Amino acid sequence: MSTDGDRWALQSAAYAEAAAERLGLGDDARALLAHSYRELQVEIPVRTADGRLRVFTGYRVQHKNVRGPFKGGVRFHEDVDLDESRALAALMTWKTALAGVPFGGAKGGVTCPVHELTTDDLERVTRGYIDKVEIVLGPERDIPAPDINTNAQTMGWMVDQWAKLHGHSPAIVTGKPVEIGGSPAREQATARGVALVLHDAARRCGIDPRGARVVIQGFGNVGSWTARLVAGAFGCKVVAVSDVHGAIYREDGLDPEGLAAVLAEGGRLPEAPRVEVIPPGDLLEVDSDILVPAAIGGVIHRGNAERLTTRLVVEGANGPTTPDADAILHERGVTVVPDIVANAGGVIASYYEWVQNLQHLQWEEQRVNQRLAIHIGDAFHATAARADRDGTTLRQAAYELAMAEVVSAAVARGQLRADEAAGL
Ligand code: NAD
Repeated sequence: MSTDGDRWALQSAAYAEAAAERLGLGDDARALLAHSYRELQVEIPVRTADGRLRVFTGYRVQHKNVRGPFKGGVRFHEDVDLDESRALAALMTWKTALAGVPFGGAKGGVTCPVHELTTDDLERVTRGYIDKVEIVLGPERDIPAPDINTNAQTMGWMVDQWAKLHGHSPAIVTGKPVEIGGSPAREQATARGVALVLHDAARRCGIDPRGARVVIQGFGNVGSWTARLVAGAFGCKVVAVSDVHGAIYREDGLDPEGLAAVLAEGGRLPEAPRVEVIPPGDLLEVDSDILVPAAIGGVIHRGNAERLTTRLVVEGANGPTTPDADAILHERGVTVVPDIVANAGGVIASYYEWVQNLQHLQWEEQRVNQRLAIHIGDAFHATAARADRDGTTLRQAAYELAMAEVVSAAVARGQLRADEAAGL
């Protein structure tokens, strides 16, 4: 979290406002982009395994749908609130536009202490969430996906609950189990995109990926698969990783596959063999060539940005770098690949999954991976080309490209006048 106590989510709109300024957007366009389309807050009463009735709060925020149905993950975490969902929904609008997939942006979540809840409790929370927000969802309206502390199983419960209300429709969510129309490539897709972008961004910075020292914060879906892919496919040396249970280090490079196996057997990172346990607060400052924040938002802030020793930050997480920190890193010559490029692999693969569901057919995993590599490569290289052309950061270039797409679509639909987009 940022040191001044401000929520990172509130600050993230600063990136969009600055891009709107550089693009010369008119007031009408800025007003349209600054507001959510719809914000839904619901109560979810759940009788938990301990016999208590607990009432959780759920959210679904829809930012813009001018390019297609709303799309975005659902997060279960004690820090989830309306501001966070609002900021993350807007982030999805920019991410889908930059990736060129025909979706808008949304985000949702439930404020709940996941680690105090049983699997049965989580199923009840999920079904209760769908009961309350289904009025704004639909395969052509708003399509949820997994995020922090939600996974394919959560999506399976959502498909089931939706089917009870509206009939079976696998396209209602992405990231669901393969048995009910999920894509075998989806689980790794976000990390595959992170890894591919990391490779190309490293080359652009003059870093040889083979043997590059990589530090990864978060060892869940995005972090653990990124560690495995960059070590396995590109020969990176993953020297330190962390999760909520602790941080570990090994000078010669950790064994990400072995670590994933430890966690799969119910163990914790600090229990892995031949690792040095380090204070979690030291993780981001471990000497590295490449740093991948892949946990929560706001972790790189003005209180620690001066101390990072890395050369390249690849944002696997959403919103890990506050605007203050972003400026400090830029001044210090550290390249940052922003979230809306770096972690777009998930929503790109989700788009493929949705298309398959609508057509009632299934692509092979290899086909998804091949298309994903081209698709995210195009997004990264378009961003890098614009940044090189204009002498801007990758984040500035990415926001400009994304916002131009969204504004053009709003003009095409008659929501904005053409002169609002005159500067594009
Ligand atoms: P996850 O729940 O699978 O994993 C989160 C990981 O972060 C866990 O290992 C957890 O222990 C760790 N973590 C949480 N708080 C931490 C802290 N303070 N310090 C260190 N580690 C901490 O979630 P995920 O799906 O991997 O998502 C991670 C990030 O990636 C989020 O910001 C999410 O929005 C973003 N993201 C995810 C996807 C996706 O497809 N899952 C797509 C795009 C972006």
